Amino acid sequence: MPATIVCRNPADAREVIATYTAHGPADVAAMCARAASAQPHWGGLPGPRRGELLHCAADLLRRRGRQLAQRIVAEEGKLLADASGEVERAAAVLHFHAGEAERLGGELADAAQAGTLAFTRRRALGVVGLITPWNFPIAIPAWKLAPALAAGNAVVIKPSSAAPGAVLELVEVLHEAGVPADVVQVALGGAEVGLALADDPHARALSFTGSTDVGHQLARRVSGRVRFQGELGGNNPLVVLADADPVRAVELACEGAFAAAGQKCTATRRLIIERPLYETVLAAFAARARELVLGAGATEGAQVPPLIDSGALEGVLDAVAQARDCGAEVLSGGARADGELRHGSFLAPTVLADVRAGMRVLDEEVFGPVCAVQSARDLDEAIVLANAVPFGLSASICTNDLHRAFEFVARSEAGMVHVNRPTPGGDPHMPFGGLKDSSASGWREQGAEAVRFFTEQQTVYLHHGGAR
Ligand code: NAD
Repeated sequence: MPATIVCRNPADAREVIATYTAHGPADVAAMCARAASAQPHWGGLPGPRRGELLHCAADLLRRRGRQLAQRIVAEEGKLLADASGEVERAAAVLHFHAGEAERLGGELADAAQAGTLAFTRRRALGVVGLITPWNFPIAIPAWKLAPALAAGNAVVIKPSSAAPGAVLELVEVLHEAGVPADVVQVALGGAEVGLALADDPHARALSFTGSTDVGHQLARRVSGRVRFQGELGGNNPLVVLADADPVRAVELACEGAFAAAGQKCTATRRLIIERPLYETVLAAFAARARELVLGAGATEGAQVPPLIDSGALEGVLDAVAQARDCGAEVLSGGARADGELRHGSFLAPTVLADVRAGMRVLDEEVFGPVCAVQSARDLDEAIVLANAVPFGLSASICTNDLHRAFEFVARSEAGMVHVNRPTPGGDPHMPFGGLKDSSASGWREQGAEAVRFFTEQQTVYLHHGGAR
């Protein structure tokens, strides 16, 4: 009997939003085999033709924007404005890589032998597997699918069972635009289906985004057999220097820590404040956190949506309890919401002070609206604290001193660094990815870099015999 995937409303778990039939390993094997048969034709199309279909898919996606955003809100729980922004982001990513399909160029040079031209070309790998998380249910799938398809690969994508609806719709849109059905297929299910994709002999590469443990397990499993890209978790710091505007610093901290209930890999999990501003910023941050309005994604005026499910909420509450038991002070939040919100996975924005090493909020990724606040003597100590975690995804600094900002950039161990911006965010045309344990490979996603992972390079020497 195939398993059933049941998606419940994160804002009210009594409501079933959708059910899906899960695939099994045999289905994944059949999909990969079909993808292998379909890929040569797709990869053989001129890049601009593939680009045309991706442009068309982006336009179709925009047309479905509102309906799709509502589906994301219902399944994943984020605010409607954020879901709409995410659909728009997915469309922008498709357009960007449609352009890249037209620009799949290489290097050109005179060869050492007279009358010979040397050039490089990039070509598709063949069949590639994609495994994606639930927290950006359309943007992350789009930023993997678009470069993979632009380069001429055939793709099997496995979305998270927590919110697979957006990927089903994105793939439907790609088919409607003219991408052949066997060139892009969706496998539904959990770890078993992901592992079947990782192990399939047709797959030449696996691109994974998700938690650090699963990413490292998969990296070890496929090592030496397929190319692997793994974008993983983070524990991202925002440093506030003493010269910063405290109002701006609190805005950045609130947006970074509590937007999407902290369920962004790049969310601000640690706030490090230079001592002269510590008391002022900490008090204002906690006060602002207490004012933020919890509510379902579609509710007018809601600022902090629910967590994805009660399991996720329990995990976050455990980490808060462990910090409290070890001496942390809870200045706001720290408990599950009750009253009208009690059936959802709501956690009030949580600010922790007096945190120290050994607390999970500092050592691990706690995936919710929780921010641990520390003070630093000076910039040097702030940088040491910022780097004192195994992760290196994103980091930010709030200051008006450009010299000190660049000192931070140069010494930060994060793959993405912001100055006077929140830790989350980035543009579709720029590379995205982490360092240290936040990445299981050096490959970057998004921007022109993204296509590298999905292609191999060939160097060609063409002897034309001419004089020049
Ligand atoms: P997860 O690791 O639990 O799951 C991610 C995907 O892997 C899902 O599709 C899941 O079904 C699949 N999976 C789980 N176990 C597997 C296994 N043993 N073998 C194969 N596949 C398996 O992560 P999640 O809870 O869906 O997402 C949240 C995590 O993703 C957070 O850690 C977050 O930081 C991270 N994330 C990272 C980025 C980034 O770009 N660095 C972006 C978004 C989310």
